[in-house]
Amino acid sequence: MRFYSTNSPTSTVSAEEALFHSMPADKGLYMPTPLPKPGRAFFDALADKSLADIGFAISQLFFGDEISEQDLYAINQRAFSFDTPVINLRDELGILELFHGPSLAFKDVGARYMAAMMSHFSKRNDKEVHILVATSGDTGGAVAMGFHNVPGVRVSILYPTGRVSDLQEKQLTTLGGNIQAFEVAGSFDDCQAIVKQAFLDKELNSQLALSSANSINIFRLIPQGFYYVRAYGQVRDAGKPVVFSTPSGNFGNLSAGVLVQQMGLPVHHFVAATNLNQVVPSYIKSGVYAPMTTVATISNAMDVGAPSNFVRLAHLHGDQHDAFRTNISGYYFDDEQTRQEMKRLHDQYNYVACPHTAIGVLGLEQYRKESGESFTGVALATAHPAKFKPLVEEVIGRPVAVPERLAVMADQTKRSIQIDNDYESFKEAFLQAV
Ligand SMILES: *Cc1c(COP(=O)(O)O)cnc(C)c1O
Repeated sequence: MRFYSTNSPTSTVSAEEALFHSMPADKGLYMPTPLPKPGRAFFDALADKSLADIGFAISQLFFGDEISEQDLYAINQRAFSFDTPVINLRDELGILELFHGPSLAFKDVGARYMAAMMSHFSKRNDKEVHILVATSGDTGGAVAMGFHNVPGVRVSILYPTGRVSDLQEKQLTTLGGNIQAFEVAGSFDDCQAIVKQAFLDKELNSQLALSSANSINIFRLIPQGFYYVRAYGQVRDAGKPVVFSTPSGNFGNLSAGVLVQQMGLPVHHFVAATNLNQVVPSYIKSGVYAPMTTVATISNAMDVGAPSNFVRLAHLHGDQHDAFRTNISGYYFDDEQTRQEMKRLHDQYNYVACPHTAIGVLGLEQYRKESGESFTGVALATAHPAKFKPLVEEVIGRPVAVPERLAVMADQTKRSIQIDNDYESFKEAFLQAV
């Protein structure tokens, strides 16, 4: 499999290059070529299998010519030790729960697959890889837990002191082993600036193989297609067209769905559901893409004013607005609507949803009303409600239990290296720690 940049479709790089250098030098985004198109029969035969087996079969299409069958099998088994079940609220309405992985959010799927792939290549090259990542909370948790105990990979996470939730901080600082947290006396942007400078530091790069676990990495996107297949397998017996609604911020999750649709998965339509950061719904309506200043909302993992995967999503539709809006409808909702929907889901179905998931259901039902079509709708549940415990409890008026695997972290000891908000103090501490 080769990967081209959306900015220069004629030159390509290897899978290994795309994996370790998330972004092409021309600042485009990597896309696979040629995209395997096994067609509907392939997915019909595959969709009843486990997430790991679905991942294995699709991985073979992508990487079968460079990674052995045995290794691809092991990579998928290691990455997907959990399921992505569809919970049916009623006929025609299901919730695809993507939060049964270790950090309780769908980002586990991409992070774990990428970690297993990096481990594979670093073993082959006999070279330890150092991942540097700045986080405002959620991504760092998925990366830390995804890469924990992965051989051949060490992870350093920079986070702004006092600005992540207690639970998020525990995910970053209690694992130990190959995961090291740096607590920066600054903001998330400061953390990101330090990481950027590290990648430009010639001295550091000559000593260590540095890499990022950036969310635009195509190896985080490809595995996110696997759970759309798994979901299709769980709802297709109803015999109706399938519509997915994806609560979106940077639009990696939705891009992954469209990618697997183009490979042949029979998806009738997609819904792009957002909060007030409505750039993509507005583009669908007007044909004009206008990034905006980010607005803070209660569905904060989707507070993105300039979605980094928009280019990919447009590219997948031949950069044609007509093709885009024929395949994807877009809707956005404010915090009040989000709270009301969380409450309605609880009162009507006894289902406890995080705010992002509630927006997914809102988008799906809005599309149902506007289209008048009959279909099986599946809303993606991107995070466990316990990740937003205070908010969810306030809205539904009852306690939310924290899953055991997260609750145990609360009692573990935090270990971090505190650094000043400047590059030199990071570099000194980092070189001492590795
Ligand atoms: C990251 C995230 C999203 C947004 O996903 P994108 O792929 O960036 O569109 C939605 N919900 C939750 C809970 C997230 O963590």
